[in-house]
Amino acid sequence: MAGSSLAEKHFRFVVVGGGISGVTCAEQLAFQFPKDEVALLTAAPLVKTVTNLKQVSKTLEEFDVEEQPSSVLEEKYPNLKVIHSAVRVLCAKQHVLQTEDGHNFCYEKLCVCTGARPKLLIENPHVLGIRDTDSAQDFQKKLCKAKRMIVIGNGGIALELVYEVEGCEVIWAIKDKAIGNTFFDAGAAQFLIPSLEVEKPEKTLPCKRARYTIDRAVNPKAGSLDHGSALGPDWHQGISLRGAEEVSHNVHVEYECEIEAVHSQEDFMQSPLYTQDSDLGTWPVYAQLTNGKVYGCDFIVSATGVVPNTEPFLQGNNFELAEDHGLRVDEHMRTSEPDVYAAGDVCSAGWEPSPLWQQMRLWTQARQMGFYAARCIAAHVLEEAIELDFCFELFSHITRFFNYKVVLLGKFNAQGLGLDHELLVRCTKGLEYVKVVLSRGRMVGAVLIGDTDLEETFENLILNQMDLSSYGEELLNPDIDIEDYFD
Ligand code: FAD
Repeated sequence: MAGSSLAEKHFRFVVVGGGISGVTCAEQLAFQFPKDEVALLTAAPLVKTVTNLKQVSKTLEEFDVEEQPSSVLEEKYPNLKVIHSAVRVLCAKQHVLQTEDGHNFCYEKLCVCTGARPKLLIENPHVLGIRDTDSAQDFQKKLCKAKRMIVIGNGGIALELVYEVEGCEVIWAIKDKAIGNTFFDAGAAQFLIPSLEVEKPEKTLPCKRARYTIDRAVNPKAGSLDHGSALGPDWHQGISLRGAEEVSHNVHVEYECEIEAVHSQEDFMQSPLYTQDSDLGTWPVYAQLTNGKVYGCDFIVSATGVVPNTEPFLQGNNFELAEDHGLRVDEHMRTSEPDVYAAGDVCSAGWEPSPLWQQMRLWTQARQMGFYAARCIAAHVLEEAIELDFCFELFSHITRFFNYKVVLLGKFNAQGLGLDHELLVRCTKGLEYVKVVLSRGRMVGAVLIGDTDLEETFENLILNQMDLSSYGEELLNPDIDIEDYFD
C-alpha cells in the first residue's frame, strides 16, 4: 500500500464513520461478537449515539441522539476500540485500510458508514452548506450580521432554515412549483405557507435532543476536519438563528428557478447586469436566478442535497456506484467488493425495494441500515440465513416542520405511481393536513401534518393492503372515528 509506514493492526471487524449508522453498526457487532475486537475508525472528534429509542408504531421510530466522547462507547463495549483518524485509502483486495496518519488496519469484514456532504452549487466564500457543527457555527456567525440571505434548495434543511431564521430577510429560490417538494405536494405546501407569514410562536417545549456543541478548549481538533458527522433534527436548537434586523419572518419565495450565476460585489458592479439595474443595492454577493431576477445578499446557503463521501474508498477498487454516487449495496448491505458492506448516507439501496419503501438520506434510515448491516455481517460470518429487515417494508418518517408534527408513510408523494393513484385530502387551516394516496383502492401512502393521531391506523391500512374502495371519501370523514372503525 502506497506510503504505508506504521505497523498493521488486525481487527476482525472494522467500521468507518462515527455517525449514527457507523456507531449503531459497531455497537451491534461488538455486542454480537464479545470475543472479537471491533474497530470504529472515525474522522470526527465525537461519536453519535442513539438514546431513548421509542417504537411509535410498527415501523415509526423516534429517538434522541447524543454526541459523546468515544470513551462512552469503549466503556460500554470493552471489545470496541474507537480510533480517531480519517481513512485515506482502501485496498479492498488485501483487506487493508490506511488512515491519514499512516496506520494500516486489516479487517475480515468492513462496513463503510462515512455519510454524505452538502452538494455545494458553487465553490465561493459567500456560499455555504450546512452539515455539521462546524458549518452550523459558520452559518450562525454570518447570520448574526446579515440583513438578507438567499436559500437555494427545497428539501428538509431548506424548509427548516427558512422557518427558523428570524431577523433576516430570506429569499428562497426553489426549482419547483411548491415549497417542500421533497416531502410535500402543493396542497401541503399551501397549508404550511401561512406559517411563514406570522410571528414564530415562542417555544414552549424543551428540546429533548442533545445540543451539538464541541468544546474547543477541551478538544482543539474539534471541527477542524472536513469530515464531521451530519447534524440531524433540531440541529438549530442550540444556536441562535437571528439576523441583524428586528423582524420575525420575512421570507420571499422565488418559484421554479435555480441559480444561474453568483457574482462577487466587484465583478457585479462592473457587469452589464449592474448598469441595467442599479437599484439592487450594495451587497457582498449577488445571485442571478434562471428566471432573470438578480438579488444581492450577505450570503447564500446551498441546501440542494448531498453527495456520498466515497472518495477514499474508490481508487484502485471496483465499487459499483449508483446514479446518486452512493456505494451500491445489495439486500444484505454488501457492496460490489467482497467483505465490504456500507450503510447510511454513503450507500444507495440497490435491491428491488418493497413497493412501499424508498431510500431517503435520513437519520432513521441511517440507524436502521447500520443495525441491519451488522446483522448481515454476523449472519455471513456465522453462515446463517438472513432476510431483509421489516423496516424496509414501509417507508416511515416522523419529524417536525414549521412547528407541526409531520408523519410520512409509504409512497406519501405518490412516488413512482404515475397516474395510477388517487388522493384524498382533509385540511383544517392552521390545524391539520391529512393526505392519503390510494392505488387501486388500497392505501399506499399518507402525509399527516398536525396532531392527527392517525399514524398507527394508516400504517396498518397500508401494511395490510385492505381494499378500501367501498369507503370512498368516508375514509377521511372527521366525524368517523377511523381508529375504532378499523379495529
Ligand atoms: P454521518 O452522520 O454523516 O456520519 C459520517 C461519519 O463518517 C462521521 O463521523 C464522519 O466524521 C465520518 N467520516 C467521513 N469521512 C471519513 C473518513 N474518510 N474516514 C473516517 N471517518 C470518516 N435527518 C432526519 O432524519 N431528520 C432531520 O431533521 C434531519 N435534519 C438534518 C439537518 C442537517 C443540517 C443535516 C446536515 C442533515 C439532516 N438530516 C436529517 C440527515 C441525517 O443527519 C443523516 O441522514 C444522518 O446523520 C446520516 O448518518 P450517517 O451515519 O450515514 O452519516
